[in-house]
Amino acid sequence: MTGDLSQPDRHQETVPIAEFSPTGTPLGLRSLPRLDSDHEWKARLSPEAYAVTRRHATDPPFKVPGYDSHEAGLYRCICCGTALFSSMTKFDSGTGWPSFTAPLAPENVATREDTSYGMRRTEVLCPRCDAHLGHLFPDGPAPTGLRYCINRSALDFVPLSEENRPK
Ligand SMILES: [Zn+2]
Repeated sequence: MTGDLSQPDRHQETVPIAEFSPTGTPLGLRSLPRLDSDHEWKARLSPEAYAVTRRHATDPPFKVPGYDSHEAGLYRCICCGTALFSSMTKFDSGTGWPSFTAPLAPENVATREDTSYGMRRTEVLCPRCDAHLGHLFPDGPAPTGLRYCINRSALDFVPLSEENRPK
């Protein structure tokens, strides 16, 4: 699923996003229009994806198919298609949520402080469309020591084999 780039950008605001080929090869930075909150997310997304990305809900752990998948491919933002994570940095965290040690590119994942529910956490967001993705914890494995704990419903997994298909 990709964002509708033909729509005029009301805020004339752009954001640098690193683009990747279907096989994960970096294609360089592009300046893309930010997708604002007026976007018709409710009509475009499944109820689960809408609840997580636009309403900060959390997937039930161990329940959403694919949370523990090790299939090779790219994980893109379910809302706007930004390439967020690769299967190469995915690891078994035992939490029941997809977990990664690093984003595909630093530009493609944003973070901000989250003090909801009486906790001090770091929220992980899509920098292009502001989708809530999950949280970042400093207890991951090597090489980064980081754990990007991401809701499966916020991710569009594109297997390497499918993206490689001739168009
Ligand atoms: Zn997005």
